Amino acid sequence: MAKPAETRTAGRKAPAKPARSAAETEKIRAALAARRDELRAEYDQTLSEITELQRDRLTDSAGDDQADTGTKTFEREQEISLANSILERITQVERALERLDKGSYGWCERCGNPIPVERLAAFPSATLCVTCKQLEERR
Ligand SMILES: [Zn+2]
Repeated sequence: MAKPAETRTAGRKAPAKPARSAAETEKIRAALAARRDELRAEYDQTLSEITELQRDRLTDSAGDDQADTGTKTFEREQEISLANSILERITQVERALERLDKGSYGWCERCGNPIPVERLAAFPSATLCVTCKQLEERR
């Protein structure tokens, strides 16, 4: 696997991090990969629903009154925005996987402690540990 020539740190010095074991990193990777597959399946499902709604519109719209057509258009728009938000989440997970490869994923941005594997599996885009997240929300 090719390594990037330089690692971008955006002028920010990485704080000293406690080491995360390779086994833990693998666990996070597996959790993220599973999440990505799940999201992709969900995305495909949504796309096929959109296609179906589209087809419905083309085939039975002749007999529909205007209200029906409006409902179907609304449903299709809902599905499209759902598809977009799933796509956004897939991107987040993929970015998380990239950062994991660089060793910059899974550390709390506030206190620098490792974020528990379970939390990362549930919220791949988490950048704070539970404690810091709670502090943030209380402000
Ligand atoms: Zn923290």
